[in-house]
Formats: sequence, structure tokens, C-alpha cells
Amino acid sequence: RQPFKVTVIGSGNWGTTIAKVVAENTVQNPHLFNKDVNMWVFEEMIDGEKLTEIINTRHQNVKYLPGIDLPHNLIANPSLLDSVEGADILVFNVPHQFLPKIVLQLKGHVSNQVRAISCLKGFEVGAKGVQLLSSYIKDELDIQCGALSGANLAPEVAKEHWSETTVAYQLPSDFKGEGFDVDHKVLKMLFHRPYFHVNVIDDVAGISIAGALKNVVALACGFVEGLGWGNNAAAAIQRVGLGEIIKFGQMFFPESRVETYYQESAGVADLITTCSGGRNVKVAKYMSKNHVDAFQAEKELLNGQSAQGVITCKEVHEWLSTCELTEDFPLFEAVYQIVYNNMPMEQIPEMIDELEPFE
Ligand code: NAD
Ligand code: 13P
Repeated sequence: RQPFKVTVIGSGNWGTTIAKVVAENTVQNPHLFNKDVNMWVFEEMIDGEKLTEIINTRHQNVKYLPGIDLPHNLIANPSLLDSVEGADILVFNVPHQFLPKIVLQLKGHVSNQVRAISCLKGFEVGAKGVQLLSSYIKDELDIQCGALSGANLAPEVAKEHWSETTVAYQLPSDFKGEGFDVDHKVLKMLFHRPYFHVNVIDDVAGISIAGALKNVVALACGFVEGLGWGNNAAAAIQRVGLGEIIKFGQMFFPESRVETYYQESAGVADLITTCSGGRNVKVAKYMSKNHVDAFQAEKELLNGQSAQGVITCKEVHEWLSTCELTEDFPLFEAVYQIVYNNMPMEQIPEMIDELEPFE
């Protein structure tokens, strides 16, 4: 099957950054990968020009990753089906609210020999309960799917500042042996760069849960920072948040490993970086300072980008309500109540207090 042909589905802030990483590696490893990488772009007009045309002629994504030069072997394609034609590896990288529609369009057009990696952070909550996005892709398209998640603010990775990430992938049960299928080595060759250090493991659930839930914790962090409560409050939120992330993983995805949360870039390191400088923390701070709701804050701050914690806190609330377990995850529930029910953010300490009050 080699050389593998790779398509990146998505071209936002992280989608374009990962497409850049991948396209740099495909050029350098022609024995393993087809040089040209397709990137599916949700087409839009920028000052009268198509975004795909701008990317293919000026080699910059001027809207979602301005100022970053992209490799010339990265080809923007506005047609989803055309972009995946003949692909062996699909790298999914869109805000997760758009995933169901994309997967629906792909159904019947992707061979079950295709392998996928999801770079998305979030969950799918539906008839099957709470699902990892990699499992959702796997089930809907009948393809093996792993995940990539780490302490990776896209603008820093795009500028080639050093960072680490975690890729998790489980080989399909009919794996034929090294060199015949996408394995951990192939995935390392696809994503590892001198400035982007990759560790490949098999705990897909662990890295996906950590990546999805840290966005909810980052919102809470932004609330207390916006209130001017400082670093101690932010650290307290992260401590409680890490506890709830691990508890959620153990309760609903017992196959996830606790070490992943502590040892991998996708675990506590991603929690720290997102709470320091991610879009979720920025949106929450903005809400706090300007007294606007999350959707208004996203619109005013992010120029079409998405703070995924806003949707994820709702997904988590829906799932925990179904299980009658909202009280077991008071920080996640507090974030939901603040974002969707106007609960005052000043009440976070009381809402998450673990101690019995003195009589
Ligand atoms: P983004 O937040 O920049 O979102 C913009 C993208 O959404 C654009 O490509 C836009 O075309 C697309 N879009 C808008 N409307 C659409 C529609 N109706 N259908 C399909 N696409 C549409 O996206 P991103 O930063 O690339 O995030 C993708 C995923 O990666 C998210 O789950 C995010 O949590 C995760 N992630 C992001 C970062 C980061 O720093 N940006 C880092 C790690 C992981
Ligand atoms: P934000 O979406 O909050 O910017 O976080 C990006 C991220 O996932 C960093 O790893």
C-alpha cells in the first residue's frame, strides 16, 4: 500500500497547522508517503477571493493561520469527496460540531482499508451514549481510527516553537505486520518534526478524554481569572479539574489509563497550556470582563474559530444528567450552569466545595 496518500480534513487554526506538519514530512519521506497532501477546506470568500485559491497561490491560510508559510505540496481542495479520493490516511481536524455532517457525506466513499487519526477535542453524545470522536469515526465509516492530542496551542506549533504531542493508535485486529499497514512507526514518521515531538501509545481513550475535558476546565479557569482572582484560584481550578477528568475517564472509559493523564503531553501538560493561553480561557475571561455570553464572546474574539469547551460542557452535562451523576462532577456542572443558565461565576467556590461545612 505504500507510499501512503494522506488527506487532512479541516483547515482551521489547528487543521492548517497539522496539515503543514504532515506536508513537511511527506516531502521528506517519499518512500513512505505520497508527496502531495490534500487539505479539505470549507470554502469561503475572503475579500472577493476563494480561500482555497489564496492557499494554493499564496500558500498561506490568511484567515485561520495568518503569517505562516505553508508547504507548496499542501493542496487546498473545496470538495470533500474529491479530497479523500484515493487517500490511505485521513487526518480529521475540524471543530467537532461539524464532524457528523462531514462523516455523513463521507459514508460509502471511504474504503475500510483507510486509516484515520482524529485531532479533534470533544465528544459525541447520542444514541450510543458518550462516545470518543475516534470511536464515532470508526463506527460510522468502518475504518480504524486513532487520535492525536497534546499540549499544542496551534499558533506556537505553526511558528515551529518546540512542543510535544501524543498520538494514540490501536492496530486493527487483521494487522498484517510492519510495513504493510499504518503502524506506530508510520504515524511517528507522519507527525514527528524537530519542533514537534511525538510519543505514540495505544491509549486512545485516555488522550481523547483528557483533550476534550481540559477545554471545560479552561473555561472555569478563565472565569476566575476574569474575576481577577489570580494564580491561586486558577491552580485550584486545575487541581479540581484534573480530578474530575480522571474520574470521568475511569467511570465511563475504564480502558483509559490513569498514567496517561499524568505522563503524556495530552494529559496534565495540555491542561496547563490551555489554561494558560488557549482560546477557551480567553473566551471565558472575556465573558467575565464584558458580561456577554459565550457565543457573543466567541464571535467577538475568535474570527470564526471555535472554543470547544462551550459545546463540550453541554455534552458532558447531557451525559451526566442521563446517568444522574451531575453532582459527582461539580466543576463540569458549574461550567455548564454558568455558560447555559447564567449562574453567577462568583459562586464557583461554593459549587465545587468538597469539604463538609462546619456546624
Ligand atoms: P477552528 O477553531 O480554527 O475553526 C475554524 C474552522 O472551522 C475553519 O476551517 C472553518 O472553515 C471551519 N468551519 C466553519 N464552519 C464550518 C462548517 N459549517 N462545516 C465545516 N467546517 C466549518 O478549528 P481548529 O483550531 O482547526 O480546531 C479543530 C479541532 O482541533 C478542535 O476540536 C480543537 O479543539 C482542536 N485543537 C485545536 C488547537 C488550536 O490551538 N487551535 C490545538 C489542538 C487541538
Ligand atoms: P484552545 O482551543 O483553548 O485554544 O486549546 C487549544 C488546545 O487544545 C491546546 O492543546
